[in-house]
Amino acid sequence: MVRELTHYVGGKHVKGESGRFSDVFNPCTGEVQARLPLAGKAEIDTVISNAAQAQLAWGATNPQRRARILLKFVDLVNEHMDELAELLSSEHGKTFPDAKGDIQRGIEVVEFCAAAPHLLKGEFSDSVGTGIDVHSLRQPLGVVAGITPFNFPAMIPLWKAGPALAAGNAFILKPSERDPSVPLRLAELLTEAGLPDGVFNVLNGDKEAVDGLLEDPRVKAIGFVGSTPIAQSIYASAAAHGKRAQCFGGAKNHMIIMPDADLDMAADALIGSGYGSAGERCMAISVAVPVGKETADALVAKLQERIKDLKVGASMDPTADFGPVVAASAKERIENYIQAGVDEGASLLVDGRGQTVEGYENGFWCGPSLFDNVTTSMSIYKEEIFGPVLCVARAADYEEALSLPNDHEFGNGVAIFTRDGDAARDFASRVQVGMVGINVPIPVPIAYYTFGGWKASGFGDLNQHGADAFRFYTKTKTVTTRWPSGIRQGASFVMPEGS
Ligand code: NAD
Repeated sequence: MVRELTHYVGGKHVKGESGRFSDVFNPCTGEVQARLPLAGKAEIDTVISNAAQAQLAWGATNPQRRARILLKFVDLVNEHMDELAELLSSEHGKTFPDAKGDIQRGIEVVEFCAAAPHLLKGEFSDSVGTGIDVHSLRQPLGVVAGITPFNFPAMIPLWKAGPALAAGNAFILKPSERDPSVPLRLAELLTEAGLPDGVFNVLNGDKEAVDGLLEDPRVKAIGFVGSTPIAQSIYASAAAHGKRAQCFGGAKNHMIIMPDADLDMAADALIGSGYGSAGERCMAISVAVPVGKETADALVAKLQERIKDLKVGASMDPTADFGPVVAASAKERIENYIQAGVDEGASLLVDGRGQTVEGYENGFWCGPSLFDNVTTSMSIYKEEIFGPVLCVARAADYEEALSLPNDHEFGNGVAIFTRDGDAARDFASRVQVGMVGINVPIPVPIAYYTFGGWKASGFGDLNQHGADAFRFYTKTKTVTTRWPSGIRQGASFVMPEGS
């Protein structure tokens, strides 16, 4: 019997009513482990009404009290860390320690949001004219929604919900259909932490649920993370419906390896960032750009050596370096790209197709693949593969290496490995990418900075988490005040006389 999952509305689990479902798989076994209700019109309306009602009191609650509930939630997540990580692995396929990292990077943003009383402070100017002062307020938007991808089912929902809730909004999460159980469990923990019913809701569904949220005027903002075509269309639709939106998309992250880099350090970094989580990270490095033939030959040899030692295995196997990919369709897409790379003339040095894992014969396995001599016209270079496939695109010199990420459609993350401070400074200044690592392969900014890609990796003008998130989830009201001279001068201390 497969479990039937629910929505989470008004502080409790609610059965699906639309009659439409999608399957939730265990990627290690390939089996269906649950079925997920996909929301229809009536359910979308109910969740928005609930959230709108609950937001009134929540928005009026003082920010320090709101922050205390979020801190209690962080404690509960920590208490339940192992249980949450196992649940996450069972639907996503990433290894247990990697699942813990997913949750940890999420609650770090919630911890940052405990500073809401400070982050929500307005500005004040005294005496802008005679007797006139000006101050500004940051007020919640009302009901806001987050639409999130499969690859970080704890972190990304928390990046969105933490600041939105701290700022006094009610939040509707539409998580990925592939791994919705951790979001549902987080909803229970928020209730247990004391969050009033209806302030955080989980609406499970597909395009119909997303369109319903986009079209309803009671939803004031949309935060999206996922693939670029969907990000772009949701951004346009949100604007057409008068909503603010921040929509983050796909990536093709390059790592430039200069001739003076520590090549062992660079090779280790490439293995971890290229193959970790089966390459299903938006900040994964998918293109290595060694500068000069000597660097390239030495680097490729080191990568080949290290790939031999990689272990693909079940999520709960403590010796596994990475697990399966999320779905049979993902495995097929990745294998099609590998074939396209071969057909287009790249050198396939390690072929991860045909990977099996004993005892898990029906899992969605992709072994590590390595391409050399990849050029900018190939589909494996231009498009996001989102799997354990690393491409080596050789560059003759630094300028050519720099031009690769600069000319690429995507601009999420990038890294340079070098011992030369001048090259590193020049790179950080000139590269057209939102997040830059210097001898750091996956430069995901910490909670109190902001996260966001450039070009086709992000649509909207504000980033996720950090101070930007509080700007996104609040509207500014500016108040100009004049008090006419009053009682101070006009007060009479003499008994009025009758006229
Ligand atoms: P996806 O675009 O398939 O799905 C993301 C969300 O959009 C899901 O909730 C899904 O239900 C919904 N959705 C899918 N199709 C839709 C449609 N036609 N209309 C409305 N909603 C729709 O992405 P995914 O496969 O879950 O995630 C992987 C992608 O996310 C990769 O491209 C990855 O680079 C990207 N990603 C980006 C970032 C970032 O910060 N830039 C972070 C993580 C993942």
